[in-house]
Amino acid sequence: MDFSSKYLEQAVQEVSQLPGIGKRTALRLVLHLLKQPEDQTVSLAKALVDVKTQINFCTNCHNISDHKLCEICANPKRESQYVCVVEDIRDVMAIENTSQYRGHYHVLGGKISPMDGVGPNQLNISTLVDKAKAGKVDEIIFALSSTLEGDTTNFYIFKQLEGTGIKTSTIARGISVGDELEYADEITLGRSILNRIPFEASLKS
Ligand SMILES: [Zn+2]
Repeated sequence: MDFSSKYLEQAVQEVSQLPGIGKRTALRLVLHLLKQPEDQTVSLAKALVDVKTQINFCTNCHNISDHKLCEICANPKRESQYVCVVEDIRDVMAIENTSQYRGHYHVLGGKISPMDGVGPNQLNISTLVDKAKAGKVDEIIFALSSTLEGDTTNFYIFKQLEGTGIKTSTIARGISVGDELEYADEITLGRSILNRIPFEASLKS
């Protein structure tokens, strides 16, 4: 692609680094931004910078937050003895949308996937185990997608919790294997949290 401006080329280059965006789409987006009023483009740029510089991760559950503790962990009405283990913040949003769960979360930041070089140490697992061993948790609810990686991660954590006496359960999903939690409809997902089954029973099926 030949550009008539180095600024245009630079912007297209940056935008095309985003997932799913090729050079042509990047050019279309940049030309669109060029046509927009200046304040609108400046506020987009500011929002992107703020994402990187202002957002924190909750020190208790690793959810994305503007403060040290996320709104869920900071809310005294939430039942902190229940901890729902999820892969990322999109799952927290999906479960929150069901309005069926009043406990806390623990965001792992991914799933164990040796193929992608992701081991337990790259994920927020030790903080979950520490929290469980501190005696503040009654039940851990696994809500990872039912893929090989999700199952491996559940099982790894389950093994780490052995001997703690903490109840472990898994959401009972009416969703086919491999479906991502994020795409489950709210009623099915809400029901699956309420009708969760003991984790050990899920291993036998
Ligand atoms: Zn939190």
